[in-house]
Amino acid sequence: MRHCDTLIAPRWCVPVEPSGVVLDGHAVIVTDGKITDLLPLEKALKNYQPSVLIERPEHALIPGLVNAHTHAAMTLLRGLADDLPLQTWLREGVWPAEKRWVSAEMVRDGTELAIAEMLSAGITCFSDQYFFPEIVAETAVDLDMRAMVGTPVVDIPTSWAHDAEEYLSKGSDLVHDPYAEHPLISTCFAPHSISALSDEWFTKLRVMADQLDVPVQMHLHETAQEIAASLEKTGKRPCERMDELGLVNASLLAVHAVHMTDAEVARFAEAGVNIAHCPRSNLKLASGIAPIARYRAAGVNVAIGTDGAASNNVLDILSEIRLAALLAKVSADDAAAVSASDALYMGTLGGARALGLADATGSIVAGKWADLACVDLSVLNSQPIYDISSQLVYTAGSGQVSDVWVAGKHQLDNGKLAHINTDELLDRSNEWRDRIAATTH
Ligand SMILES: [Zn+2]
Repeated sequence: MRHCDTLIAPRWCVPVEPSGVVLDGHAVIVTDGKITDLLPLEKALKNYQPSVLIERPEHALIPGLVNAHTHAAMTLLRGLADDLPLQTWLREGVWPAEKRWVSAEMVRDGTELAIAEMLSAGITCFSDQYFFPEIVAETAVDLDMRAMVGTPVVDIPTSWAHDAEEYLSKGSDLVHDPYAEHPLISTCFAPHSISALSDEWFTKLRVMADQLDVPVQMHLHETAQEIAASLEKTGKRPCERMDELGLVNASLLAVHAVHMTDAEVARFAEAGVNIAHCPRSNLKLASGIAPIARYRAAGVNVAIGTDGAASNNVLDILSEIRLAALLAKVSADDAAAVSASDALYMGTLGGARALGLADATGSIVAGKWADLACVDLSVLNSQPIYDISSQLVYTAGSGQVSDVWVAGKHQLDNGKLAHINTDELLDRSNEWRDRIAATTH
């Protein structure tokens, strides 16, 4: 009999890889933070002596969900400026509040709130794009959360950097040290959008990203207005301009990609570009519906993101994958366009692939980190159970997430955050609300 740290015994296990498989009565073995075995429970109990045995007899164990695009610290701006079109929302709501309030302290507290919310919803990895990325990384490490931390790059002064040169320089510092080999943290460059930089600075960014071998994450083709403004200013659609500058490649995580021509989709597929689809944000800001069934059929990997809490307003991938599946069906005029199993893939392994982390997370496979989420299917709205994937995608709410592990650490235990003081977190959030509201209303 072999020793292991944790033996998790759910009723069902959906490993996501191989695709469409649902295992009944299996156990996942975790040692030193990694999945070391997945086998029938009876055999597991004979073969392994666990330090901790977790029995979840009415639950489905899935890979931890991957939030492929967010702005974590914006939780503190949640609900501050709703019901506005994107440009008005940015210019009159978000940017003035950010100019006044973004600081290391704000990013620390907002990111902590976001991580607590995401862990409670079964998310074990997030891709971030915000100021003070070193604080985002530090907070993720302190809370033992997996993150791809995007360092912002724009050519305007903010409280984090003065100009494009300083953004790039501070960004490359973060990539080098101290996170180059960190098991939980990876990094990327995150220019806000095509209007963030001149051609010259985009070229410098590409060279630096290539040298450091890190991805580039940016909002791209989010709205029809963005494309029209680019055509007016440069005579080129944003994708075309990015392609000419050498940024359309397998390192690009294109966020939103709502409005794409067939030729652009084909080019993305050929280049290996990944798309972070953020359906609720696109609906709330009336940006449009990304036809993801078309993207997937063309061979583009589609991941799912929540975007920031100011434009969503919840960091909940389980509800986001449901929305993604439903919108994909209606936009394709085909109820079979994206299945429940496809949606679960996009929220897990598809996300890990998009972040370049498919070897580390995204499926329940021996050798990967034990990033896992358990969903309670005993509740009324999940009964009766014919099809596990269907129940997970079309009925389960994030409140049904009972347990979460990140790299084997039991972060959510029977519905309770095990290592975060939520009372203290709520107090701090309310303090920020009072400070911010006093200057905006
Ligand atoms: Zn965004």
